[in-house]
Amino acid sequence: MNLLKFEKNYFKKKWTNRISVALVFPNYYELAMSNLGYLYVYQRLNTFSHIVCERVCLPKGNELPVSVESNRPLKDFDVILTSISFELDYPNLVKMLNLSGINPLAKERDEIVIAGGIALWLNPKPLYKFVDAFVLAEWEAIEEDFIKTLSNYFYSKELLLSKLNEYPYVWCPQLEYEKKVKVEKKYPLETPPLSYVLSEKTEFKNTYLVEVARGCGMGCRFCAAGYVYRPPRRYSKAKISEVFNTIPPGSKVGIIGFEFANKTEVISTCKRLLEKDCKLGFSSLRLDTVDPDFFELLKHTKSIAIAPETGSEKLKKVLNKDISEEKVLEVLKLLKKFGLKSVKLYFILGLPLEEKEDLEATIRFVKSLLSFKLGIKLAFSFSFLVPKPHTPFQWAKFLDVKELEEKKKFVLKGLKHDKNLRFENPKDALLQTLLIRGDEKIAELVLLLAKGIKLKRALRELNIPLKKYLSPEEDPEFEFPWDFINTWVSKEFLWKEWQRAKDLKLGIRCKPFECKACSACSQILVL
Ligand code: SF4
Repeated sequence: MNLLKFEKNYFKKKWTNRISVALVFPNYYELAMSNLGYLYVYQRLNTFSHIVCERVCLPKGNELPVSVESNRPLKDFDVILTSISFELDYPNLVKMLNLSGINPLAKERDEIVIAGGIALWLNPKPLYKFVDAFVLAEWEAIEEDFIKTLSNYFYSKELLLSKLNEYPYVWCPQLEYEKKVKVEKKYPLETPPLSYVLSEKTEFKNTYLVEVARGCGMGCRFCAAGYVYRPPRRYSKAKISEVFNTIPPGSKVGIIGFEFANKTEVISTCKRLLEKDCKLGFSSLRLDTVDPDFFELLKHTKSIAIAPETGSEKLKKVLNKDISEEKVLEVLKLLKKFGLKSVKLYFILGLPLEEKEDLEATIRFVKSLLSFKLGIKLAFSFSFLVPKPHTPFQWAKFLDVKELEEKKKFVLKGLKHDKNLRFENPKDALLQTLLIRGDEKIAELVLLLAKGIKLKRALRELNIPLKKYLSPEEDPEFEFPWDFINTWVSKEFLWKEWQRAKDLKLGIRCKPFECKACSACSQILVL
């Protein structure tokens, strides 16, 4: 399909005398076009006159992956770059290489595959065989060095990798497996990223996506983004206004990162977008940071997501997300008042210290929300805890799939199979956990999954010891496969937070540069 027919503001450049870069998104086009990080890198690369960058997404069937812009296969490009935000996409990358006739094993091929994205900051090990260089960094922080190195050495895989490997944020496993890698971040943030490429064929149709702050200082213990983007950072009001001014009147705009934004400044700047007849959307709302003025921004918004996570007072302390039922109700009433038609509420099951009483509390909470007849459509989505690397929950256990199925049944029964409930499949959560907590052995699993082999069979064939990945030892010194990545947050702090979680104690909230608790702010002070 010629997708360019449905797009605006894409780049179509001639290839002659330019370095050609395939920007691979290892999932479908619709998702790629809703990913600000991916679109931002696409735009930035194309601003360099000597580079032509084209997008390549996962094909729907087993066809040859080709670029959106000129239908070229991956083999035609000088360099393959990929951005991976989600661990379930690891096998998709290998599948795309296979479909392209490119040997997925890095040391046995000539093609160059360079990978970045937040999933890899958490743990790149399961892809160590397939990627030549992992670039663990925020794009803005490394653009200049990266482009310079790429431009000088793109013609030689050997030279390019050895030069990239000199940067502390790059891991070239075939060159220096034992390297300690430090994620590179941008400070201070300057211009907010805005995606200009618009498409009709995406979930957020023809929507400009823009980031107004990065990270979140609330410290929810399960949330990887809340840890690896530390310290939370803001853009200046002037820069946000400058970027908003480039958005044409009447546009749809998706605001990202509202949680840590300076609410007064961002709300007043957003109001100027409303004056230009723009329609605003928000990724999800952090209930305890919502300003009353905020609701006015929702006048064209039909639906929004909020995440109470649990109805249990005990588990709220374990999660460090203590939002009262009254607050949820108050916000729902305000959302109704301001014209929203539907709200999606997210919950997590399989949490540390979770008991039957906690599930009952969640059931009671959901029932009470339904009983209020708010006149707003409520949908409840239940997922299962994936204990992510670089969070305090990295020591938490992933429960047995059978146990998770039991929990699902219990909640379904308690809520009388209400039609507005959605549950993740526990097997998907298991796969996600294995991929994000994996090591070299899980790379073998990635290879089989990429060939279309089902998880159960692949686990049997490889004889994978599940316990090793799902039940870490309760030991602050326990060695995780991802310990070689420094995300700026100390392991000691994560362990303390894990102890506080088990003692049902709430954690601290960030006050950037006024505290040294997790050590992320100190990294900036030494820059
Ligand atoms: S040092 Fe303190 S303020 Fe800075 S990121 Fe860590 S917890 Fe937050």
